[in-house]
Amino acid sequence: MIRLHNVKIPLDYSNSSLLQAAGKKLGCQQGQIVRCEISKKSIDARKKNDVCFVVSLDCTLKNPQDERRLAAKLSPGVGALAAPYAPPAFVRLAHAPALRPVVVGLGPAGLFAALTLAEAGARPIILERGQDVDTRTKDVQAYWEKGQSAFNPGSNVQFGEGGAGTFSDGKLNTGTKDPRGEHILRTFVRFGAPQEILINAKPHIGTDNLRGVVRRMREAIIAAGGDVHFGAQMTQIIRKDGKVSAVVYSDSTGTHELETNQVILAIGHSARDTFSMLHESAFSLEQKPFSIGARIEHPQALINRAQYGDFARHPALGAADYKLALHLPSGRSVYTFCMCPGGSVVASASEPDSVVTNGMSCFARDLENANSALLVGVGPEDFGSAHPLAGMFLQREIERKAFVLGGRCGRAPAQLAGDLLAGKASRRLGSVRASYRPGVVPCDLSELFPAYIVDSMREALPLLGRRLRGFDLPDAVLTGPETRSSSPVRIPRGEDLQSIDARGLYPCGEGAGYAGGITSAAVDGVRCAEAVLASLGIDATA
Ligand SMILES: Cc1cc2nc3c(=O)[nH]c(=O)nc-3n(C[C@H](O)[C@H](O)[C@H](O)COP(=O)(O)OP(=O)(O)OC[C@H]3O[C@@H](n4cnc5c(N)ncnc54)[C@H](O)[C@@H]3O)c2cc1C
Repeated sequence: MIRLHNVKIPLDYSNSSLLQAAGKKLGCQQGQIVRCEISKKSIDARKKNDVCFVVSLDCTLKNPQDERRLAAKLSPGVGALAAPYAPPAFVRLAHAPALRPVVVGLGPAGLFAALTLAEAGARPIILERGQDVDTRTKDVQAYWEKGQSAFNPGSNVQFGEGGAGTFSDGKLNTGTKDPRGEHILRTFVRFGAPQEILINAKPHIGTDNLRGVVRRMREAIIAAGGDVHFGAQMTQIIRKDGKVSAVVYSDSTGTHELETNQVILAIGHSARDTFSMLHESAFSLEQKPFSIGARIEHPQALINRAQYGDFARHPALGAADYKLALHLPSGRSVYTFCMCPGGSVVASASEPDSVVTNGMSCFARDLENANSALLVGVGPEDFGSAHPLAGMFLQREIERKAFVLGGRCGRAPAQLAGDLLAGKASRRLGSVRASYRPGVVPCDLSELFPAYIVDSMREALPLLGRRLRGFDLPDAVLTGPETRSSSPVRIPRGEDLQSIDARGLYPCGEGAGYAGGITSAAVDGVRCAEAVLASLGIDATA
């Protein structure tokens, strides 16, 4: 097979235009090509009057010798012979370990760690403090409809089966170059995610598909010998001679102790009581930079026009996305994060009397607004104390202030971009409808955030408006606070992925400070599972 790169094709391409393009690149007759398929696809919208797709094509020729001869003539950037994808061959244990490994948390990191362990025959025990995805979906919907009165601290957008990313756009693009990334995507497809995620340069699953995918993954873990406990919060890690010897968890039936010598700690960035427990139990924790800001919302049609120009309504394009970043003279970085085309701003708190925002889209991305987090980088110098959890305390303080500004009922404070730029409070919203449920309260966000956050946003907005026409639309709605962009702490681990404070403990995923996003958390989960299997004397991918 020959993989051709950077092949430009029109938006309304057909199989024959693919063959034509491939024949031209290879310098051969179309008749010699027996298979020609798109393996990667991205949108090239640099020229607004000539928006097209740029694809990689996998081609098989009738005669393998022709294939080798033509491939040899191609320069690396144009194409080369390529081997079809080979899935990692995980080795199965002859028999389950006497002490079963424990996975704490069933977000992407825990889910992929548990699946890897279960399918290798290690019979993992999974503790998830939240509920299964179906129960959780009801709990979250109730909170979005009724606000604080229906808030459930144990089952919400941060806690429960599938973890933080379940109610998300399910964007899977990641900065990690780890070869396990392909395995993650293919595993999502194996459990029902749309095939397109294997081809699109910016793959997304959509929250509507993600819920089924995580349920089916859980069923596969159980079928392979794993045990999954919901409503089971890990409350203590017991050490003996510097090694993990057991974990304690509590659920509706009481407190239980589980003897084990392998624990994958995949608790996410919002497990504040667990971070406090680790600190009080003398586990090392380090402050870690993260970002704070607000969700900014625009009409999706405006973003489509800005990104696709004359092609804004072309059916092959769908809702446009954007990614913006800049460094201010003050040294602060301001950037957009977790952009959700055709989606909504969602209430994402995990503690009572607090308000937190994030974003979500369904696979179709067909709602009227686009949103992203407009974030400002913050670091230990802003936390005001050397306490390892000072960043977490700053998050909490802002979230509680937002609850008060929102009227103490779960509504969120919001301000128009135009009013923020003018330095005045908003009294009402304009042409853009705020999608945050249960609703927003127009106000002045400088009553919510430290001055360096609002000043940085004010300085950045017009500059970003020059990069993306309309980004600084006066009626754009800023709803806040977005405080959970990543973990405020890191749990130190060594090269072998084990905690520096306890052998057999594997701090894992976003909460531990080793991932940012669904795919990189899942990759870290697989790495930690491989490390556990290696310690059981098994080279997982031999
Ligand atoms: C609304 C929203 C939208 C997002 N959109 C995207 C997106 O489109 N693309 C993307 O890449 N990323 C997105 N993210 C970020 C992404 O979800 C996270 O990076 C990812 O989920 C981190 O995975 P994780 O497994 O490390 O932790 P988490 O997903 O946070 O999972 C941790 C799990 O551990 C459980 N837990 C915590 N403490 C305990 C305990 N003591 N005992 C038992 N269980 C415990 C929690 O209940 C939780 O289920 C989004 C996040 C949110 C909140």
